[in-house]
Amino acid sequence: MMPPALPLTRDLVLIGGGHTHALVLRMWGMAPLPGVRVTLINPGPTAPYSGMLPGFVAGHYDRDALDIDLVKLARFAGARVILGAAQGIDTTARQIHVAGRPPVSFDVASVDIGITSEMPGLPGFADHAVPAKPLGPFATKWARYRDGKGPARVAVIGGGVAGARARCRHGLCARAQGPRGAGASRRPGRRALDAAGARRRETARRALRSRRQPA
Ligand SMILES: Cc1cc2nc3c(=O)[nH]c(=O)nc-3n(C[C@H](O)[C@H](O)[C@H](O)COP(=O)(O)OP(=O)(O)OC[C@H]3O[C@@H](n4cnc5c(N)ncnc54)[C@H](O)[C@@H]3O)c2cc1C
Repeated sequence: MMPPALPLTRDLVLIGGGHTHALVLRMWGMAPLPGVRVTLINPGPTAPYSGMLPGFVAGHYDRDALDIDLVKLARFAGARVILGAAQGIDTTARQIHVAGRPPVSFDVASVDIGITSEMPGLPGFADHAVPAKPLGPFATKWARYRDGKGPARVAVIGGGVAGARARCRHGLCARAQGPRGAGASRRPGRRALDAAGARRRETARRALRSRRQPA
């Protein structure tokens, strides 16, 4: 006989349904904590998964393949989903405010709403650059660029791991499509992957060179 389910006496609220909380939901579905109600707050029913972005840039996946189905994942985790953006957290009343919804009570709230790599202070950025985060708008613009015609050059700003991966993928894209998608990286005064360990850096630089990317 199944033991009776414990009443739900604690509220865990996850704000943001991206990479981090998608993993939390998956783990929760495998080992839920009895007595805890989980609520996910996210603007839409899906969230793009950044780990697949470089593969998308290279043309291995189409745009839809990047999306995590949050409704399905929440069902697996036994969580409820609230579609909307959190607009305020009242830490005294322990409530989260989402436009058009009653306040969402929490005992524990976790905020993982991603970042932006927009650089509004950099001259020319607004006219010529596209931030890789948030990922959704970037993916839409990259798809438009990839499907365009004629030669083009891409510069990647940022020589960390994600930037180097993106450059490798641009390189793959360039191979498949000729001059469109060719890449170069910019990190003033430093070489790509300076922050990575020596072995990782050398492996990654070899990969970049093999794709005719300066390392
Ligand atoms: C090119 C690239 C490749 C990467 N590859 C990897 C990798 O392979 N492995 C790895 O571990 N990390 C990788 N990262 C890093 C990883 O993307 C971030 O660490 C991770 O996305 C952060 O998770 P997150 O859940 O906070 O944000 P995100 O995954 O960006 O998700 C944020 C979510 O919050 C939602 N949101 C925004 N505002 C609100 C609001 N007000 N209320 C409610 N919801 C809101 C958004 O709609 C979105 O669904 C990569 C990053 C980049 C740029």
